[in-house]
Amino acid sequence: MLNSGGAIARGLAYGTRSPNHLLNVPVARMSWTAEQPNDFFNWLQNQGQTFHGHDFVRRSYYGDYLNDTLNAHLQHRSDLLWQSKHETVLRIQKAVGEKFALWTSEGRWLTADRVILALGNFAPKSPHHSLDALPKQNYVADPWQPDAYDSLSTDAGVCIIGTGLTMLDVLVSLRDGGHRGPVLALSRRGLVPLAHRSNELPPPGWLPSGPWPMPAELRHLFRQVRRAAAQAVADGFDWRDVWVAIRAKTPQLWQALPERERAQFLRHAQILWDTHRHRAAPASIRSMKHAAESGKLTIAAGRILHSETEGKRVRLRWRDRKNQQVHDLIVDRILNCSGPSSRIADDRSKLFSALDRQQMLLPCSLGLGVKVDAAYRLLDSSGTPQEGLYYAGPLLKSQHWEATAVPELRLHAEAVARHCLSERNPI
Ligand SMILES: Cc1cc2nc3c(=O)[nH]c(=O)nc-3n(C[C@H](O)[C@H](O)[C@H](O)COP(=O)(O)OP(=O)(O)OC[C@H]3O[C@@H](n4cnc5c(N)ncnc54)[C@H](O)[C@@H]3O)c2cc1C
Repeated sequence: MLNSGGAIARGLAYGTRSPNHLLNVPVARMSWTAEQPNDFFNWLQNQGQTFHGHDFVRRSYYGDYLNDTLNAHLQHRSDLLWQSKHETVLRIQKAVGEKFALWTSEGRWLTADRVILALGNFAPKSPHHSLDALPKQNYVADPWQPDAYDSLSTDAGVCIIGTGLTMLDVLVSLRDGGHRGPVLALSRRGLVPLAHRSNELPPPGWLPSGPWPMPAELRHLFRQVRRAAAQAVADGFDWRDVWVAIRAKTPQLWQALPERERAQFLRHAQILWDTHRHRAAPASIRSMKHAAESGKLTIAAGRILHSETEGKRVRLRWRDRKNQQVHDLIVDRILNCSGPSSRIADDRSKLFSALDRQQMLLPCSLGLGVKVDAAYRLLDSSGTPQEGLYYAGPLLKSQHWEATAVPELRLHAEAVARHCLSERNPI
């Protein structure tokens, strides 16, 4: 296992040590395998933690859980030669004997019979080109970098670009660091994630009645979802139950939409989907509301027009969506929280860009990731599956749309492992 991040089973999501960075999926849906839904819950109990299945716990617990689970499995597999290296893979190429050669940050080539790429999320794309010209202490292009809050004074003026789940995390990090200064959170529509219920586990068995049609037009799909939500409420359920029900069907719905309709969805409807579907833990929303009510946080809808340094600070010019008024804001730091990119060029390690140049991948034409076949083999630029080269992770969005959270990722991870093992010429 080659891992540029160093720590196993943590990634960007579960590497945080803040007790206030919470999972946005309840305990009962975060088990590492769908076959043992109580596994995470039981692990928490074994740690002496008393939670319910519907609770939203610290993300760091989840990293500990995955790490423990992996170690426990390895202990039972004395036949397995397991090595983990803190190394970045920079290039992969085909080598003799149907093998792959991997060039790593240690300046060496490794060979492998099979390769599974599970690189996680890419850095966010810059929301305006002028931001990239700002000094590093004024513009944090990637809020997950460990130095994102370095030398930030407690009364600094901060602008967060993006008002989604990453903004909620950054608000927590600022608060944890003792920051008391003003914060403007700015996004095109100014919409924030909706909250989960405090008991997010819906009553069992609720599904939209009758067969769920697969519309080929977006407007029909939206009408269908709205109707189902109204029906759910009329039947004494909650609109969120509709999302729970749709979730398993999302890949089929996505695949039923022609590319033109998918592009429309990304342009006009994605933000609504995201705020309803990617909900936040109630405590995270409460903390955001508290910051807004105390006057520390302002959430605005608008478009960035320009940014430039002004002494040691930054002047950010933006246009208000509501009244078209242009504002000049002077802040100390701008944090890009516009959300992970799925553009190949935004891969931190540049491995995907290299594969793209080598024509060893087929990027999604809508910029949603890469294409794989049914066995998760990466397609090359001509659309041919590559034996022995697999992908699992959020870039499956291009084919499944719903592929970024544990309830889906664990299924993909399991399936990719199964396909890898069953391929011809076992290792
Ligand atoms: C902040 C955040 C919070 C989240 N919270 C939740 C949640 O509460 N519930 C939920 O279900 N989902 C959540 N997710 C989504 C998802 O569960 C996580 O992103 C999850 O960690 C994805 O797992 P992964 O293995 O695909 O990627 P990661 O966990 O990010 O692992 C990818 C690993 O690959 C390494 N890597 C990348 N490139 C290379 C390379 N070239 N060479 C070697 N190593 C490389 C990275 O260093 C990293 O360690 C969250 C995501 C984020 C970003």
